[in-house]
Formats: sequence, C-alpha cells, structure tokens
Amino acid sequence: MQGLMQDWPLLCHRIIDHAAIYHGGREVVSRSVEGPIHRTTYAELRRRSLRVAQVLDRHGIGLGDRVATLAWNTWRHLESWYGILGVGAVYHTVNPRLFPDQIAYIVNHAEDRILFTDLTFLPLLEGIADKLETIELFVVLTDEAHLPQTSLRNVVAYESWIAEGDGDFAWKAVDENAAAGMCYTSGTTGNPKGVVYSHRSNVLHSLAFNTPDMLGIAARDRVMPVVPMFHANGWSLAFTAPMAGATMILPGAKMDGESLYELLDGERVTLTAAVPTVWLGLLQHLEASGKMLPHLKRVVIGGSACPRAMAETFENVYDVEVIHAWGMTETNPLGTVATIKPDYAGLEGDALFDIKETQGHPPFTVEMKITDDAGNPQPWDGETFGRLKVRGPAVAKSYFKGEGGEILDEAGFFDTGDVSTIDPNGYMHITDRSKDVIKSGGEWISSIDLENVAVGHPDVAEAAVIGAAHPKWDERPLLIIVAKPGQMPAKEDIVDFMRGKVAKWWLPDDIVFVDEIPHTATGKILKTALREQFRGYRLPSADAAE
Ligand code: ADP
Repeated sequence: MQGLMQDWPLLCHRIIDHAAIYHGGREVVSRSVEGPIHRTTYAELRRRSLRVAQVLDRHGIGLGDRVATLAWNTWRHLESWYGILGVGAVYHTVNPRLFPDQIAYIVNHAEDRILFTDLTFLPLLEGIADKLETIELFVVLTDEAHLPQTSLRNVVAYESWIAEGDGDFAWKAVDENAAAGMCYTSGTTGNPKGVVYSHRSNVLHSLAFNTPDMLGIAARDRVMPVVPMFHANGWSLAFTAPMAGATMILPGAKMDGESLYELLDGERVTLTAAVPTVWLGLLQHLEASGKMLPHLKRVVIGGSACPRAMAETFENVYDVEVIHAWGMTETNPLGTVATIKPDYAGLEGDALFDIKETQGHPPFTVEMKITDDAGNPQPWDGETFGRLKVRGPAVAKSYFKGEGGEILDEAGFFDTGDVSTIDPNGYMHITDRSKDVIKSGGEWISSIDLENVAVGHPDVAEAAVIGAAHPKWDERPLLIIVAKPGQMPAKEDIVDFMRGKVAKWWLPDDIVFVDEIPHTATGKILKTALREQFRGYRLPSADAAE
C-alpha cells in the first residue's frame, strides 16, 4: 500500500517562490561590485530570476546544460543561480582564486556554455579566453554604463541582457533528482573533481541544516554569508536564508575586516558565516579600532578548524555565539554543527569551549562512522582516531564524469579524507586530514590540534604544523609561525605556552618563523606547499638522534 500524499518534487526554485510569496518585502542588501550598496527584495529578485530563466531559454539553454558563474556574493549572482536552475540548467560556481589554468580546466571539463562573471574577473578571463572551448557567451554582472572595453568576444551586460525578457515565464518542471548545481573540489591533490548537487539534495540539505540545533535561521534574522557562493555551494546559505525568509546581506568583493564591519554594523547583521581567516581579519580590525559588535548574535565558522582563541574572543569579548561547523564540497556542503545538546548544557568556561572546539554533531540525514584503514568501525569514545565516513541523501555518490572511480564503501559511505574522533554523544572532532596527520613512532599526532594551541599564544597570528623527517620516529612535528605585527616571540616561550595543553610527546621538535603561510583557493593552509618548502628540513632532534 502506498501513501496517499501529494507528489511535490523538492525543487530549488520553489524556495525563491516561497520567499517571494511569504517574505516578499524582505530585503536582499548587497555591496555592489561597482561600489554602492544595493537593495532589493525577494519578490523583485524572483521576478528578475524569471527573466534570467526566460533569456537563457531563448538562448537554447535547457535541461542539464551547465552555466558557469565566476562571481562575488551579490543579488545579481543570486538571481543568476535561481534563473539557471529554474530553467532546468545547472549553476556551476567557479572559484576565481584557483590558478587560471585550473579555471580553464574545470570550465572545459564541465562543458559550461555560458559564463556569468563580475567586472573584477574580466582581466582573468581575457587571459584564458582562448583556452575556454565551450563558452558561447559571457554575461557580465553589471549594466551597460559600467561595461568596459574588453578583448573577450560575445560579451553582454547582464542588465541589458535580462531586459530582453519580460519575466512572463514559468519555471521548468524537472525531476527532483535532476542536477541543479555543480562545484569542483579545490583539488589540492590531482585535478579538481566535480560534485553535482541535485534539486532534491539542495532542498533536503537546507531543511536539515536549518533546524534549531543546526543553523536555526529565522525570518527575523539578518544573514550575511561572507563565505562566497563559489566556495562549497556557499554553505547552502543561498537556499537556507530565503527558505527561512531571512534578510540577506551580501558583501560583494570586499571581505576585509573594515568593510565587513561596516555591513555588520550598518545592516545590523545577526548571523554571519565564513572561514577562520576572514574572521582573523575582522578581529584584528576590531582590536585595532576598539569597535564592538552589538547586533551580531551568531557567527558560523567552518572550512577549517576554528581556533579556540578565536571562539573565546568572539564569545567572551564580543558576546557573539560561535557555531563551529564542518563539511565539504561533497556533503552539499554541511555535515556537522557544534551546538550544545542537553548532555553538555551545564558546561562553562574551558569545558564548554572543549565542546565548541569539536566540529559537532550531524542533523537527521547525515550518518557518520569512523573506521581504521581496513574499514573496521572504531569506538565512539572521543579518543580513538579513525577515518571519517558519511552517508546520506545530500552526500556525493560519485564525481562528474566518473572521475576518481568508485567513491563509496560497500555500505554506501563516502570516505571524507578526514581523520576524527566521535564522542559518546555523537560529537565529531576532526584531528586531521588523513594526508596531514603526523605519524610519529607508529602513533598519530594531530597537526590541527597543535595549530589551534599555538595560535592561542598572544604573539602568534597564524600557525601551521607539518611532519618533518626523523631518523628514529619517522616524522616529528615542525611548527611554522607567522608572528603578529611587531612581535618576535621566542621559540621556548611558545613551547612553554603549549606545554600541558597537548600530550608531551606531541610538542613540536622545532619552530620556524615565516612572513606568510600559503593558503588554498578556499582559505585553508596549503600543506602541500609547506611540505615542499620544508622538504629536507633538518630537525635539531634528528641530528641528536643520529
Ligand atoms: P576545499 O578544499 O575546496 O575548501 P572543501 O570545502 O570541500 O574543499 O574542504 C573540505 C575539508 O575542509 C574537510 O574535508 C576538512 O578537512 C576541512 N574542514 C572543513 N570544515 C572544517 C572544520 N570545521 N574543522 C576542520 N576542518 C574542516
């Protein structure tokens, strides 16, 4: 016997319909790439998305066609997403921070037919235009007056282009399992691989992650996604915020501390989200200027581990609740969120931050397990490390065009490439990427834990830990530090500071100071480059052991 309920496919454009109908007057505020602050509403945004869909349809873009966006978070980018997926096509976000050759590779691999871009990226595109084999049209997200001379062929200004449509158009009815979006993993190893989101996975993911113990966004929230829409599906905020009917504030091209502060304060943002490096910039700006954050209630921090000192500063100095989250492109992208379950409700001070330092627990729809290298499940005791594997309706089952082959185990779990513990209450704590973990005498040392402790030192701005070769132990930790401006901490002082905060045998064997630590296109420490830079580094302890 079948249920007798309606067949109502889970389609992303229904989200913008809902926002426009029930929250039509709610604002979407953007810092435009041209400069001024721009204001629109969900109702207007939907009308313009319909025009995008209509004009795309006239161009012959339809079911399954890929349309690239190389753009900052603005209302025009948001309209483009909804217009693209509303015509049954697939938005493919391209990360401008990738190397130009990688951008050409993924645009060709995805076979994108149209590319929406911001003024900022015209020089970049001009440089690789002759390598882009499939692009028929460049749509520059601006108006005619701001469109500069360019050597690109087939260029239109977005505003004139969508003016060709009158918006009298109906969204295409597509299967809920049809592709809606696409995002390539940054490919710190090998070529980038395409993750393809379906309408259904986007909708389910947004429903699951907008429950009270996850992001819990409400219509009264004023949400500023600083995390770019081109980073791991923009953490899904382009769906969750309209679904909740929340006001959106989009920071455009400016993500420095001062520009973010201006919006946080001026637009009374209540919830914001970005990677730790962005928040580092904001906190430095606040510290230097003595400004406070009276409106902001919650900050979502993910993409890499939120250093404890950062969480403590937000909560203790600025009275902003830190929501640490973990995820990856392959998980649509959120997987876990570190909110406090009743089991930990009474905790305070250090004990509370111990929990906030974990990556948290999953909502319904995400299943986790940790295993050893042979696939045997490991205990959930909060101490045993294992390979973290996940399963669910918004987790990738394979990459675009089958790259990377079979990616699931027999039980259908995807190996995240992360190493973690899980505690008895289901809180997951990432200890490392499987390729970054330091293998010392057959035991594993977490580079992330060491980094988090080191950045707690008042003179340290950023810290990275890699394994350096050691004749006796195989590898020992080498701590690489960028000091805060004007500071020159002593090595012994840093080791003393770390003592007692990690196991004694985890303490770094040596420390080096650098001006800058390299980052990936999504703001993570680029360990491959560091390993290359310090290849052959001789630890003093290695000399002593020989
Ligand atoms: P990219 O490398 O393109 O940024 P992802 O966003 O998919 O790709 O990166 C996902 C990886 O980022 C995770 O597998 C994990 O290693 C790391 N990561 C994400 N969030 C956290 C977090 N809160 N703590 C530690 N690591 C994290």
